[in-house]
Amino acid sequence: MATCSYTVPDKNASGDNFYGQFICRQDMIDFFWNGYGFSGNKDYWDDGFGWHDCCNTDKPLARTFNALYLLNYSAEDYMNEDWNSPILNWGCRYARNQLDDLRSKCGDGSANATSFSGACQDNRVELYLGFFYNKDVPTRAGTLLHEARHQGGKGHNAKFPTGSIYGAGKDGADSNWQYEGAWMYDALYLWWFYAAGTYTTSAMKDLARQRGNVVIDNAFATHPGYSI
Ligand SMILES: [Zn+2]
Repeated sequence: MATCSYTVPDKNASGDNFYGQFICRQDMIDFFWNGYGFSGNKDYWDDGFGWHDCCNTDKPLARTFNALYLLNYSAEDYMNEDWNSPILNWGCRYARNQLDDLRSKCGDGSANATSFSGACQDNRVELYLGFFYNKDVPTRAGTLLHEARHQGGKGHNAKFPTGSIYGAGKDGADSNWQYEGAWMYDALYLWWFYAAGTYTTSAMKDLARQRGNVVIDNAFATHPGYSI
């Protein structure tokens, strides 16, 4: 639908080369496409976004598939998606239940992703260039879960704290960890991935730990008191 220009950062550093070796299978592509809200949205994922080239990790579609692979296959027992298991197991199931309209756009640079929901809204999640190219694969996976939590009806309910990289006093924070909001899902998933993730590399786990700590330190009005 749209055309925008981008440069592709080092794909070893971002994890796109590592995860890219697993996603290029028709059964997996079908599973992601039908399970995570791409279906019916071909117009948003064609042209330069990769619909005709869905194994090419230079392009947004494959880079999103990489994050979905991480989300689905990082638990040792990944077939177990029971709600009583760690979020490492059921995060993919939660996202699958919530993401039924996922769109790719250029964006204006102000956000990496946005969730739209509510009475007079066309419920959907939009992903922008910053999501595809400024974020590594673990961070992308956390962000998908974050947006899924918004689709699940949990909005942000507080202002960012003093010193936050997201802008002290601006809306968009969660009040605290116990609120179980989008930032908590994001950070908790990355924490579990760091601690117990499998079928990945130590470099990917380190990225998850760094990103999880950034979220914990900057996105809660009351600091959770944790450090990963
Ligand atoms: Zn959010």
